[in-house]
Parts: sequence; structure tokens; C-alpha cells
Amino acid sequence: MKRALPAIEGGEPVRENFLPFALPSIGEKEIDEVVETLRSGWLTVGPRTKRFEEMVAVYVGVVRAAALSSCTAGLHLGMKVLGVERGDEVILPALNFIAGPNCAIHLGATPVLVDVDPETLNVTPEILAAAITERTKLIVPVHFGGRPIDIDGIMEVAHSRGIAVLGDAAHAMGADYGGRKVGSVADATSFSFYVTKGITTGEGGSLTSPNADLVDRVGILSLHGMTSGAWNRYSERGSWFYEVHEPGHKYNMTDIQAALGIHQMEKVDEFRERREEIARAFDSGLRDNDAIGVPASCTSCKHAWHLYPIQLRSELLKTDRDSFIRSLREEGIGTSVHFIPVHYHGYYSKRLDYGRGSFPVTEEFFERAVSLPIYPSMSDGDVKDVVEAVCKLLDYYRR
Ligand SMILES: *Cc1c(COP(=O)(O)O)cnc(C)c1O
Repeated sequence: MKRALPAIEGGEPVRENFLPFALPSIGEKEIDEVVETLRSGWLTVGPRTKRFEEMVAVYVGVVRAAALSSCTAGLHLGMKVLGVERGDEVILPALNFIAGPNCAIHLGATPVLVDVDPETLNVTPEILAAAITERTKLIVPVHFGGRPIDIDGIMEVAHSRGIAVLGDAAHAMGADYGGRKVGSVADATSFSFYVTKGITTGEGGSLTSPNADLVDRVGILSLHGMTSGAWNRYSERGSWFYEVHEPGHKYNMTDIQAALGIHQMEKVDEFRERREEIARAFDSGLRDNDAIGVPASCTSCKHAWHLYPIQLRSELLKTDRDSFIRSLREEGIGTSVHFIPVHYHGYYSKRLDYGRGSFPVTEEFFERAVSLPIYPSMSDGDVKDVVEAVCKLLDYYRR
């Protein structure tokens, strides 16, 4: 059979119109709620933010959740309330967004990077145990791509040594491990509602914890450290008085964002199920192609499927990862790469003592990985196009 000519070589593209890598799913309810918020006269943190916090807490299965301006804000405040101070060590995966490592730096701590397991792409209890020193204060594991970490093993390793765990669940709203939702077990967990994430408030985040006092302290620190927020001061029954016991930050969510969040939270399971359906379709279309690896499925957990990264087996291909991404774009498919290893970034390569080769799994994954589009508004036709374009290119470029 003649191999179809890739669009980048002058052939017909798989798609006429471009399929973006990620798109939010915003319904009429979200739009109406935002408009009502604007008409209500109360724009910043207030009744809608409170309602959103309650929805997140009930969903995750904790008493309290704090709504914040971002997941990064949750990581920063989470590190602070879990006791990270100047000179401490904070363990994080090298396969990571730079938000977590940056927060450790802002607190004067040293990010200690570790590699990940090649199958799950998550940190494991064994990997963490080997990196713990007497200066370790906190572990910040990432639920990579929405795949939940082995929370019991990790809590055991940490707590037996008096170390806390702050989950980076930017990808993992809706995921669970052994029937317990991500966000309900770790000492604290930070979620992202950035526009590309599982559910969105445009920008936003939330910190959850089984410890309600810890969440309350995060709430106060998210509003300058004031003991009483604007809603309590300016609403009808409010009082002007507040105190500051600890200097805080300006990390609160607004009611405009929460208006989106309330209706996104109603659909969190529906969105996750659609993502899983797409992952299954990718599995069946791509799993048997030996020129790529597909994400491992998980048996005792519910995967949030924020990402579906394939890994190119370059030894079988006459193309590299970057050219493959350009070729996919010409076929009409948007993709991305998650993540540039933390120690490759200029600041971190100078500041930390990790050369190339320090984290072989992370580095090899980065060389080979292409994240395919996976989001609820993709049609079955879109999903088929992605599979077709990937297979077409693998076929053409096979050695
Ligand atoms: C997106 C992301 C963040 C940051 O989320 P924001 O809400 O934009 O602050 C943190 N960690 C990981 C792993 C992410 O992918």
C-alpha cells in the first residue's frame, strides 16, 4: 500500500480546520451566572465563592476548601502553612511545571528534584525515600497528567519521618485512588482551574485538606492575613473590624470566577468520563503501533485524563519529536509537550546542581513525548482525526 503523503510534504491534510490542543467547555449556565454576578454589584470574593468552596469540599470529601486565584497560590500558601522555611528542602519531581519549584524558591527553601516511575510518570515511595534528608520538610508530588499518585505509600514514607505531603493536583480534579478522591488524603492538595485544566474558572485554584484549621488559615492568608474578608465587612450584617496576626498575600478568588466554577463543578464527572472515553479511543487506535508508547492505564484508580502523552520510539522513526509536532500541526492537529524538565530551565540549571543525565526517565520522556488533544468538547470525528493523523505520520516516517 502506498503511504499517504504528509501535509508538510505537500500531501492532503487529515483536517481542513485546525483542532486546538485544548479548549474550555463553557455552557450557557456559566455565561448567565457571570452576567448575573456582574449585575448583582458583588464582584469579588463573596457568596458565589463560598458556594464554590462548598461544592469543591463536598466533591473531594473534606470539611473545607479554600478558593484561590490559582493552583500556584495554593502551592505557595500550602508550603507556608505546612511549615516550609528558609533552608528547608522540598522534594518535587523533575517532570513538573515550574510552579511548585518556584514557590519553594520564594520561601527560601531548596527544591530537591527526583525522577519519576517510567510507567506511571509519578513519584513513588521508593524514589522519595531515597531523596529524604534531615532537612526535608515537605514532599510535593504531582498527579502527572491526572493519574493519581500512590497516596498511601507516599503518606507512609513521609509521615513515618515527620514530613508533610502537599499534592500538586493541577491535573487531577475528579481523580481517585482506591475510591478516595485526590485532595482528601494528603496534608493539603492544590487544584488548578486554569483554562486548559479539567474544569475552569478562567484562572483559579483551590486548596483542600482533611484539616479544616489548615484550610481556614490558608483562606485568611489569601486575603492579606485579615481575620475578616470583604464580604464579612461590607455586606448588610458585616462589621468593619479586622485584625492581622500574620502577613498574608492577595490570592483570593473572585465571585466572577466562582460563577463559572459553580457550573463547571456540576459537570466535573461528566467531563472526566468524556476524557476517559477519548483516552480509550486513543488506546484502541494507537496501542498496537510499535512506533509509539501510550499512557499506562490504571487499575485501582480513576484517572482524570488531563493529558494523553504518546512517546515516540525515535529508533523506529525517521523523524524527531519537534518535527513530528510540526507535521501534526500541518495535518490540522494541535499538540503540546509536558514538561520541559525543571533542571533544564536557565535559572534552575544555574541554581541547582543537576546536569543532563540526572533524571533519565524524565529526560527521555521529555525527548519523546507529544501530548495529544483530549477535552470534553472534542467530537468522535475529532478523536478519529487525531488517531488518523498520528498513524499516517508514523506510517510515512517509519524506518
Ligand atoms: C497548570 C499547573 C500548575 C499551575 O496552575 P495555575 O492554576 O496556573 O497556577 C501547577 N502545577 C502543574 C503540574 C500544572 O500543570
